[in-house]
Amino acid sequence: MLELQQLSCGYGAFEAVHDLSLSLRPGTITGLIGANGAGKSSTLMCVAGHVGLKGGSIRFDGQDIGMLAPEQRVRRGIAISPEGRRLFKDLSVEDNLRVGGLVQPAARFRQDRDYVLGLFPRLGERLHSLAGNLSGGEQQMLAIGRALMTRPRMIMIDELSLGLMPKVIDLCYSALKQLRADGMTILLVEQNTDRVLSVADDVCVLESGRTVWQGRADDARNNSDLTAAYLGLH
Ligand code: ATP
Repeated sequence: MLELQQLSCGYGAFEAVHDLSLSLRPGTITGLIGANGAGKSSTLMCVAGHVGLKGGSIRFDGQDIGMLAPEQRVRRGIAISPEGRRLFKDLSVEDNLRVGGLVQPAARFRQDRDYVLGLFPRLGERLHSLAGNLSGGEQQMLAIGRALMTRPRMIMIDELSLGLMPKVIDLCYSALKQLRADGMTILLVEQNTDRVLSVADDVCVLESGRTVWQGRADDARNNSDLTAAYLGLH
């Protein structure tokens, strides 16, 4: 699955992430956590091919993908639900899903759409609404759904719960568990550490672009130094 070895990435001369090594186990959820500006989004965007790789390597299924164009990475099975969601606000929910599915044969559209609607029944009720008219939670579901339309084997989700009501966050987290049960590998960026630790199998904590802790989520929960210092839990 995804393997990052001493990954460094950034913008122009600025390096946002330094020497990050991370290995995702297939069919698990890895939480990438850390304060604002720690380098979480940059990491996801670098894996997706939108932020420059400055050092180290990105391997997916054993192959080096660090030099591939973003679209080629999508075709290999990597999807991202980016920070800010970046939906097509003037298109309907269904057409946003259709755009996501463009990398797949048209014949698969209905089946893939129905899978997404099974995960997020709310989207089925809003299929013909403009994406711009959806609530924040519905937009988040649509951003994840659109990413799933590419038929990925790994999905990266940035700031899943940011700005959402607790009830909606519950729905999104239930969908994540369902995805994992269906075999998906998930890299989840969150500032809501309570939520991440409740669902993740593995955790990586970033601070100022460096890894400060990495391991099983169970061990993170039981590590009082870590929870007090970095996870905002007591
Ligand atoms: P947040 O939750 O605020 O998004 P983050 O952990 O995802 O935090 P990043 O967004 O990856 O952190 O930012 C890491 C560093 O890179 C920060 O210092 C940020 O200012 C910088 N940075 C992010 N995007 C850009 C950009 N487009 N150009 C230049 N610097 C950037």
